[in-house]
Amino acid sequence: MTGLAERFGTPLYVYSAKAIRERVRAFDEAFGGVPHSICYSVKANSNLSILRLLDKLGCGFDVVSGGELERVLRANRRAAKKVVFSGVGKTVAEIDAALKAGILLFNLEGASEMEAVAACAAKRKQTARIAWRVNPDVPADTHPYISTGLQKHKFGVPIGEARELYARAARSKHLQVSGVSVHIGSQITQVAPFSAAMWRVAELVRQLQSDGHKIEYVDAGGGLGIDYSGSQDFAATVAEYAHAVTRPLHDLNVKVLLEPGRSIVGAAGVLLTRVLYRKKNGEKKFVVVDAGMNDLIRPALYQAEHQIVPVEDRKSGPEIVDVVGPVCESGDFFARERTLPTVNEGELLAILDVGAYGMALASNYNTRARAAEVLVDGKSAQLIRRRETIADQIRPELFKRA
Ligand SMILES: *Cc1c(COP(=O)(O)O)cnc(C)c1O
Repeated sequence: MTGLAERFGTPLYVYSAKAIRERVRAFDEAFGGVPHSICYSVKANSNLSILRLLDKLGCGFDVVSGGELERVLRANRRAAKKVVFSGVGKTVAEIDAALKAGILLFNLEGASEMEAVAACAAKRKQTARIAWRVNPDVPADTHPYISTGLQKHKFGVPIGEARELYARAARSKHLQVSGVSVHIGSQITQVAPFSAAMWRVAELVRQLQSDGHKIEYVDAGGGLGIDYSGSQDFAATVAEYAHAVTRPLHDLNVKVLLEPGRSIVGAAGVLLTRVLYRKKNGEKKFVVVDAGMNDLIRPALYQAEHQIVPVEDRKSGPEIVDVVGPVCESGDFFARERTLPTVNEGELLAILDVGAYGMALASNYNTRARAAEVLVDGKSAQLIRRRETIADQIRPELFKRA
């Protein structure tokens, strides 16, 4: 890690290809007993090299924008047939691009959106495969910003209205009813909400089949949480999850689509950052590092607590500190009142489990260049995104004419 920081500079995102492969394999093994396909949720980490790695492992993709679809196509032109398209605000241009690419499935989230997909497909003389994303009205015990499966959330259609909506979709000759989709939120660490949602979905599938619809796919969404506090037996967790998802579906003859994001890449990344300064305000000690909330916003946005470890273990005594960044916001912190080994100015810290929703949520706030990203695979460490320059940031801007 010290070598990588010297070679590529800090702050630096470092990902492990091995960790990603292991997670994909764990999913495939846990769902080995049923026809399934992993459609990795691109928004968790959308780096092209990560997408290409996942494509090579046989994954499909869940995209939520035309931009994400374009990334998938750049990773592999032929990956479109394994793409599902989710999201509450798909534009006509995005729908058109997805039809042109020939994606597997549109997850519809509203009646007007259905009309838009049907109209686009008609114009292109195509048939769009669709699923309704149903909102099962089950609470998921997670942060309110990443809970999506309750009636009050903007996502999906109420499960009670689904039969009528399927009937409407079936009347359009440019739509082909193909599946039922559900996604109840993110960082869900108990399997009970997944199970509750799936029992409701299974009951709906049975009704739809008796209504004469051919339901080929059940898209179970993503949302499986990871343990940010320490090590987790991931194989056991995903096995329990697989049981919760597949048990309600066992007699329905459907293929299960999975949309994991965080659980595939979250634990596979660290953020390396250098200690710039130490300072004290009264009794309070601060460690000021060169990464900021623009690089990793999860602590500020979700009250996330990532473990932080010194890269060189000097066996120094513990102290209680706030680890903060250089951004001009009090919300720019990585840890508050955290007991850490004493670190000196110039030393390196690693912020753990940042592979998901880390770089993906990075910004240029304070005109800070976004960090570089490196992918480690065995003995090789390759730059997969160079550090941004000030020129990169300023390029789209124009001076107002005098
Ligand atoms: C965000 C999202 C996912 C992935 O969620 P994770 O918690 O990262 O697994 C999957 N499906 C949809 C529709 C999403 O919006």
